[in-house]
Amino acid sequence: MKIIDLRSDTVTQPTPAMREAMMAAPLGDDVFGDDPTVNALQDKLAATLGFEAALFMPTGTQSNLCALMSHCQRGDEYIVGQMAHTYRWEGGGAAVLGSIQPQPLNHQPDGSLALADIESAIKPDDAHFARTRLLALENTIGGKVLPLSYLAAASHLARGRGLNVHLDGARLFNAAVAMGGDPYAQARTICSHFDSVSVCFSKGLGAPVGSVLCGSKAFIKAAHRWRKMAGGGMRQAGVLAGAALYALDHHVRRLADDHALAQTLAEGLQGLPGLTVEQPQTNIVFVDVAPERAQGLLDHLKSRGVLATGLYRLRFVTHLDVDAEGVQRAVAAIREYLS
Ligand SMILES: *Cc1c(COP(=O)(O)O)cnc(C)c1O
Repeated sequence: MKIIDLRSDTVTQPTPAMREAMMAAPLGDDVFGDDPTVNALQDKLAATLGFEAALFMPTGTQSNLCALMSHCQRGDEYIVGQMAHTYRWEGGGAAVLGSIQPQPLNHQPDGSLALADIESAIKPDDAHFARTRLLALENTIGGKVLPLSYLAAASHLARGRGLNVHLDGARLFNAAVAMGGDPYAQARTICSHFDSVSVCFSKGLGAPVGSVLCGSKAFIKAAHRWRKMAGGGMRQAGVLAGAALYALDHHVRRLADDHALAQTLAEGLQGLPGLTVEQPQTNIVFVDVAPERAQGLLDHLKSRGVLATGLYRLRFVTHLDVDAEGVQRAVAAIREYLS
């Protein structure tokens, strides 16, 4: 029985063509700046997204950490969402390793942080307070796309108060594809509101490893130092960057297929007794079920070869390695449990 793994878009295997690109990638020692494939990836993503420079990172967590540590010094503060990866899901790294204080805010239903909440969280210049230095947003956030008008307003507010603005764009291209039109141009438009952006290649883009942090030359120089300190200076990293470069060229537009399948999944679950299905905007479907039934449902799905997670709510993520038949099997298994 083929396993339908809907736990995350991180579970994708590199395709045969991606593996070929990895095998064929010219390599060098990236700590010396000598790896042509890493350099090509960094140059290409920076140019695509409208930044001066970029830096290849082993993980999105390290990419975000280096970004936060480059924007903020010891005793500084960043404003961030309660459910943001850079706050909740990175082991407290900014505080532990960076001595940076998070100022978490509750999200609005659309995933945004209310401008009034941001405004009132910015501390005055007073010795009682940490120095508020940064606003960190995430897009997509919980699979939701933040509107461009919101990004513009939030960035305008933050910059007007002397803050920098960072985007955890782990799924930047999912947001760009969901907006319609040319996804590369849309991604660039999103990025125009930020001083730095971190993009994951190991999620829906299907690479086995890797994220890229983008920003100004001076910012990337600072991040490069932190990356070395964090143990992220990799050697013949082009074998990995080759996969990301391939994904950038070949796996961006196809994210639309994942979004369509998430839609199909949500439609298949709509109206089932005991389920509340959130209409997906991208590739993540959240489903609420009575807490006492959640584990039973997950166990049943597992017995039918369908994997999902349920840390807060049930979550089903579509990706490169899930097709329409897999989604139908997932829907059938959920229906079977509830009937
Ligand atoms: C996955 C993810 C990251 C980075 O995760 P790594 O597993 O460290 O690569 C960062 N932000 C968001 C929103 C993510 O989903």
